[in-house]
Amino acid sequence: MDRASDFGSEGWGFESSRVYKLIFTYLPMLFSEKDYQFMYAALSEAEKALDEDEVPIGAVIVHNDRIIGRGYNQTESLNDSTAHAEMIALTAASNHLQSKFLDECKLYVTVEPCIMCAGAIMTSRIKDIYFGAFEPKFGACGSRLNLIENNPYNIKINIYSGIYSEESKHLLKSFFEKKRNITGSD
Ligand SMILES: [Zn+2]
Repeated sequence: MDRASDFGSEGWGFESSRVYKLIFTYLPMLFSEKDYQFMYAALSEAEKALDEDEVPIGAVIVHNDRIIGRGYNQTESLNDSTAHAEMIALTAASNHLQSKFLDECKLYVTVEPCIMCAGAIMTSRIKDIYFGAFEPKFGACGSRLNLIENNPYNIKINIYSGIYSEESKHLLKSFFEKKRNITGSD
């Protein structure tokens, strides 16, 4: 388990790999049973995307321990490059609360958000992001970029990663393997 916001580790001042190992051992305790439940719900959303031949990423937004918004990637079916799981979940949650601000909500998403979604999350005032797998190519919350932590607007958002990361990666892998096989047989 890892925590994106601590990935640079400079701020923590840990030099010994032994200490680092200890942190990695104890980090799973950061996540509660509910966190796993909500990420599981996000994974179920990602499975819907997989069933519809979309890149399988899913998201849920939680308010007072209840899911108030769900979404899965629908960029192909909607012909809309903005139809990422997080964006759809944000809109659903805002509709539910009848509020453009979601400052008492948490976002659970199976894959590290991209720059667009990171921007939308900041705009929505969500305070906690939980994500499963890192996205080394387009991730904007700790891997390729860390837009959230390095934002110039003094917006403070906590980022936690690693819940069901293997499961999240597995879904992506199945999708891209399937795609490769189809392309290969043409
Ligand atoms: Zn995105």
